[in-house]
Amino acid sequence: MNWARGMGVALLAWWVGVALQLQQAVLWPSWLYGGILAWGLLPGGWPFLVPSRRLNSWRALRMPLAGAWRMAVRVWMGMAVAFALTGLHAGWRSAALDPALEGQDLDVVGVVQAMPQQQDVGWRFRFEVEQAWLVAAAGHSTPVKLADALPSQVYLGWYGQGGSWDLGSAKAALPEPVQAGERWRFRVRLKAPHGHLNPRGFDYELWLWEQGIRATGYVRLGAQDPPPVRLAVTWQHPIEGWRQSVRDRLLRHLNTPEATAAEASSEVKRRLAGVVAALVVGDQAAIDRSDWDVFRATGVAHLMSISGLHVTMFAWLSSLFVAWCWRRSALWGFAGALHWPAVHVGAVLGWCMAAFYALFSGWGVPAQRTLWMLLAVVVLKISARQWHASLIWLLAGAVVLLFDPWALLQPGFWLSFVAVGVLMATERPELHNPAAAFKSPRQIETQSGTERVSERGTELVPQPFWHRTGALARPLLGWAGSLSALRLWREQATITLALAPLTLLFFGQVSLVGLLANVLAIPWVTLVVTPLAMLGVVWAGAWTAALWALQPMAWLLGEMAAWPMASVSLPMPPLGLSVLALLGATAWVLPLPLSWKLLCLPLLWPVLLWVQPRPAAGQFELLAADVGQGNAVLARTAQHSLLYDAGPRYSAESDAGLRVLVPLLAQMGERLDVLMLSHRDSDHTGGAAAVLAMQPQAALWSSLEDEHLLHTLRPHWTRCQAGQSWLWDGVLFEVLHPPAKDADSSPVSPAGTKKTKPNAVSCVLRISSNANVNVNVNVNVNVNVPSVVALLPGDIEAAQEAALVQSGLGPVHWLLVPHHGSKTSSTEPFLQALQPRLAFVQAGYRNRYGHPAAPVLERYRDQGIPLVESTRCGAATWQSAAPDKVRCERVESLRYWHHALALK
Ligand SMILES: [Zn+2]
Repeated sequence: MNWARGMGVALLAWWVGVALQLQQAVLWPSWLYGGILAWGLLPGGWPFLVPSRRLNSWRALRMPLAGAWRMAVRVWMGMAVAFALTGLHAGWRSAALDPALEGQDLDVVGVVQAMPQQQDVGWRFRFEVEQAWLVAAAGHSTPVKLADALPSQVYLGWYGQGGSWDLGSAKAALPEPVQAGERWRFRVRLKAPHGHLNPRGFDYELWLWEQGIRATGYVRLGAQDPPPVRLAVTWQHPIEGWRQSVRDRLLRHLNTPEATAAEASSEVKRRLAGVVAALVVGDQAAIDRSDWDVFRATGVAHLMSISGLHVTMFAWLSSLFVAWCWRRSALWGFAGALHWPAVHVGAVLGWCMAAFYALFSGWGVPAQRTLWMLLAVVVLKISARQWHASLIWLLAGAVVLLFDPWALLQPGFWLSFVAVGVLMATERPELHNPAAAFKSPRQIETQSGTERVSERGTELVPQPFWHRTGALARPLLGWAGSLSALRLWREQATITLALAPLTLLFFGQVSLVGLLANVLAIPWVTLVVTPLAMLGVVWAGAWTAALWALQPMAWLLGEMAAWPMASVSLPMPPLGLSVLALLGATAWVLPLPLSWKLLCLPLLWPVLLWVQPRPAAGQFELLAADVGQGNAVLARTAQHSLLYDAGPRYSAESDAGLRVLVPLLAQMGERLDVLMLSHRDSDHTGGAAAVLAMQPQAALWSSLEDEHLLHTLRPHWTRCQAGQSWLWDGVLFEVLHPPAKDADSSPVSPAGTKKTKPNAVSCVLRISSNANVNVNVNVNVNVNVPSVVALLPGDIEAAQEAALVQSGLGPVHWLLVPHHGSKTSSTEPFLQALQPRLAFVQAGYRNRYGHPAAPVLERYRDQGIPLVESTRCGAATWQSAAPDKVRCERVESLRYWHHALALK
């Protein structure tokens, strides 16, 4: 028992060591990690050489000291070794793209590494570069040294003719499909991995890093570029190639021409075909976004990926089948069958088949976790040892983190491990009984029937009445029996309660219908849909059956998701409060006395009562979200909030609203009073529909033409005009532009010809702190405090700037640089009149317009105006209470996998 405790402590320290390394902003040199590794191994190793008998002979007084020392050594050892190995691992994949190669034309030859994902009118795929040449201006090219200047793994996009997705013209045809394992020659342009960094938003750069991708880019298809050439079909990446062929066969089989006809149900079938693909090959990108929303709201999202449950079921059925064959072979005279017990052979081969299934399904974290836990169970079973379940759990986590330390930052890791950990802790009372732990498996087998390998470790199944109904049928029936409704209900209730703080921490959402939905969906998906979907690999007809089986469930889940209060969204609490709540919820599901549980209940309150801190009365805060090439600034006062512009559209299916703003507003628990769209350009209105849908109470202000599609979402919208103003909590909001005469005229005439450039009618918004507070009797602000002013001018250009200066626009503290730093804006008289203390540009990394333009940057520099770029800062937070400071997400939460750019 002493050994087990020491091992458990060392494994826990391993987890902590990995977590500490993931906090590093900059990687250390490899020799430093090497030194820590050696240090961790050397003094850490000796206590294990000291025989424990010698410790026993020590005097009683020295015992606790010696024990504490040994414990400390194990903690140090686990932490240091994990920290150093993670650091070395990171060092190996830190090769970066030479900035001089960014945006240059390169000819590359390499192999498609993984099955491509369809995105709009093209494919995205991982590509392993074997050779590369830099294309010189004259047409001849020079070889580029790999590894030094060019990382070997890149993420490429290949879009239909007409370049990448173009605004409003997504009519281009799909390019030729690529297959995993094929060798291609492409002309490409690459750039460093650069994503949007928003407070607790999705970390695209981490996602790329985790897959070893250190550059992204796209295939060039210009008139003077050589067309892509398929050079060979190689045998590299065979599993990916097979996954792709199965996925494509499945989608072809289910999306037959009749199914794609314009009938109402064909759309449902097309989407559900994606769900079947996800269940067979783990291709989660095949599932439609709207379906994910339903699955998340009903708490069954875990079922739609290759979950631990599916891998366990596969391993268990395989082992039973192998064991059955093995026993039969003994009857038929196979001599080997007498040497090795059928149970052992079945367990080993069953595990191997499950490992193959996990690989085939894309090697997700839940599948890995299950596989390592099953391996520990198999090894223990064969060596007739018994380990405490918690040790197996910690060991599986350490193994997952050894191969993929960055999984620790993924919700999937925590949801998977906490769910199975809670089940282990609540379901196996015999594990807490040391007497049971000391029994050998053989004893257990003779006393209480069969033993089975499951997600929860070795588990006992009481001898059922049907124990004479045949070797294969008996465990099958036993397993089905153990999945009875009552048991499922109890397990689900346990998991749902324990995971609620985690889903709140990661997604800001708790599903209230999850319990009911899971009780219905788990047996259906696990016992009916998934086996049918798997069977489809050998007989395609089963896929049609799986699709039919999915339809009633999808309908039911859709209905449940639409129920009022199906899921509640709460502001995302800070990490510390979530951990407290997790402890409280775990205590509630553990077999503890009721008084203990009641004592732990208050741990849940802070999370439920958490609200995002707001500015004081009279003050305001601006949060410029990192949306790429476009504007989106959230202005908050003590009790109100306004979103200025809604960011760009990225592709036919995704925009800044869905990807950045809706999650950001949800996790802050923000209820918008107003969404103001400065003008109609899609880099300002791209995310508006998603934001308006998620914030039904928000009023719409805009300079859009009357017949604009967005106005159908808010028939009672307001046109912004100079002279409008209002007071919120002691903060003054004023619209300075466009003048009423311009605002009345629609920017686009009925005939479709442009009358006014949309940029020219941008709503210009000025926000001033500590405004005259007499209007609002509830607010008590010192009127002597000077006003701090911010200006949000949209995409106005030189003429509008001149008009504003003429109208007497005074100095400001914070300026959103007009038109993303375009050459046509930020004129000298404008800057001289405004004298901004701080200017902020919202523009995309290496955007195609070249924003912000070099002469404009120079203009700001000459005027001595500090200018911060969103590409270098990420999301920026600025407060009127501290007008000289700006908080940059990319600086504050910098980790070594992020694209680090100096703020300048
Ligand atoms: Zn713009």
